Amino acid sequence: MHSSVAHFPPIMSLISHNLQAVNESIAHAAQRYDRNPTEIALLAVSKTFPVDAIYEAWQAGQVRFGENYVQEALNKIAALPALIADSEKIKQVEWHFIGPIQSNKTRPIAENFAWVHSVERDKIALRLSEQRPAHLPDLQICLQVNVSGEASKSGVTSAQLPALAHYVSTLPRLRLRGLMAVPEASDDVAQQRAAFKQLAQLKQDLCEQGIKLDTLSMGMSGDMDAAIAEGSTLVRIGSAIFGKRNYAV
Ligand SMILES: *Cc1c(COP(=O)(O)O)cnc(C)c1O
Repeated sequence: MHSSVAHFPPIMSLISHNLQAVNESIAHAAQRYDRNPTEIALLAVSKTFPVDAIYEAWQAGQVRFGENYVQEALNKIAALPALIADSEKIKQVEWHFIGPIQSNKTRPIAENFAWVHSVERDKIALRLSEQRPAHLPDLQICLQVNVSGEASKSGVTSAQLPALAHYVSTLPRLRLRGLMAVPEASDDVAQQRAAFKQLAQLKQDLCEQGIKLDTLSMGMSGDMDAAIAEGSTLVRIGSAIFGKRNYAV
């Protein structure tokens, strides 16, 4: 006996539906703000979600994934190849580390990720540089800036940024690509845009000092549109793709 459910055609998974909607929002925002949509990359932030969710997003065409917690990320990085089961395709998956970095966790980050968005200290940058395996491409780096100036937030101040940027740009096996920020959450679009504009200005200032940067990692589910308006080249989207996070799990 067949269950009636089995007779329905396969429905699009919720994740692939969400992913499509996010990609459409990016395209619309690009059009609205006169941006080239190919210059806005989508990082799917999969923290707290299981590897099956990542696999589902991958099946829908997503290849860049962002993680915040080292051990959780390592477990998923180790588990995904068994699901994808194609060694060429698994090589196209790009892992980005976007969480706070403790100095005793730099080695697994240097060994397992393509990008790190959350560098905010000389010492962490030096360790990543020393620990990046020589056979891998340079580790792509963004410096995290505390644009809202909240005491509790991660990131360097705009005053500290130039020294850190100059230092990181001298380190072997790291390639400094740009700046990242997580501004204070706000429903006010003008306030969202002001914070992102500040990050874009800081990137511009560094470029004028001879530090060539091409990446602005800014915009999350709640403020993606404002970030694209202000020049984001990479949006980091979690809940709009995977759903609400449950940190208790
Ligand atoms: C969790 C997280 C995101 C994604 O946030 P959403 O609001 O779920 O889109 C983006 N960036 C960083 C640094 C994060 O920690």
